[in-house]
Amino acid sequence: MKPVVPFISHDGENERGAWQTALPKALGAIADVKPFKDLTEAERSNAKVAIVANPDPAEVAALPNLAWVQSLWAGVERLAADLPEDGPLIVRLTDPQMAETMSEAVLAWTLYLHRDMPRYGLQQRRKIWQEHLLKTPQERTVGVLGIGKLGSASVRRLKANNFNVLGWSRSRKVLDGIQCRHGQEGMTAVLQQSDILVILTPLTAETRGLLGQAELNSCKPGAALINFARGPIVDTIALLDALDNGPLSHAVLDVFDEEPLPHSSPLWEHEKVTVLPHISAPTITSTATEIVVQNIGGYFETGTIPQSVDRKRGY
Ligand code: NAP
Repeated sequence: MKPVVPFISHDGENERGAWQTALPKALGAIADVKPFKDLTEAERSNAKVAIVANPDPAEVAALPNLAWVQSLWAGVERLAADLPEDGPLIVRLTDPQMAETMSEAVLAWTLYLHRDMPRYGLQQRRKIWQEHLLKTPQERTVGVLGIGKLGSASVRRLKANNFNVLGWSRSRKVLDGIQCRHGQEGMTAVLQQSDILVILTPLTAETRGLLGQAELNSCKPGAALINFARGPIVDTIALLDALDNGPLSHAVLDVFDEEPLPHSSPLWEHEKVTVLPHISAPTITSTATEIVVQNIGGYFETGTIPQSVDRKRGY
């Protein structure tokens, strides 16, 4: 008999529906994928692995013998906060296609800033015909905070497009052609040298509020910021102050403290802010499903659980 793999999701109806079609079809030869509400008592008790997307933690807790959960999301800060440390291991989604999609977004919005599009957009609305000095990509330093799966694909793409690229991580790293820094001193250097600063760290206890007033004010005059990671990594009040009274010229924000961004937020109408609705690197059902099949198929074949989140580090 095939094992039953619970699917637990409180995602929107459309996303949930897409997964509920794709997962049973793709995993059909290996396991029966069943929504939590359809599980029998015995199936709940026997489940060793579940697939989760924004799950209700009480439903995960109702599966007492889970060894691990496969998240359909790359960022797992909510899951890590919701599940007990001695609970099931958390395996996040690491999809090379997502890294490519993110690197495309990083390049697209870096070019948007590099070619002064926010400024020319404002000029058009005011009917101002005025040319600004053009810089080459080589003259522009792009600093990427977080050079893991998504960040390393992004720095490679930026380098291939001739930008001068700096990367920053928690531990020391070596990436071909990229000046890599780490630790507090390394971050100060990246902030001071970057014309465009891209945030791609996970949200953890250490990175919450990573960019506050002091850090934002130590940025290079005229620097722009791109946050494609998580909203709470940047202090919004400090960001608004750094845009209005400090060194920052523009911010491209895809992620926020609260999503959807409330109508009352001053970010919506700020001339130096571009608001995006969390679209820089959405999960792509087809490629993500292949990863899930590999991970779960491998587990049932060999008992191997893929690399899981380090609960102490938080990522
Ligand atoms: P990852 O592979 O785990 O890489 C994380 C990077 O951040 C690593 O380089 C890590 O350093 C660094 N880092 C973590 N904590 C740090 C700290 N305290 N100080 C300095 N560096 C630190 O993660 P990923 O797959 O690239 O994803 C990054 C984040 O992107 C996710 O957590 C998620 O929140 C976000 N995301 C957003 C979207 C979107 O559509 N907006 C889509 C997908 C993901 P080490 O190399 O030393 O470990």
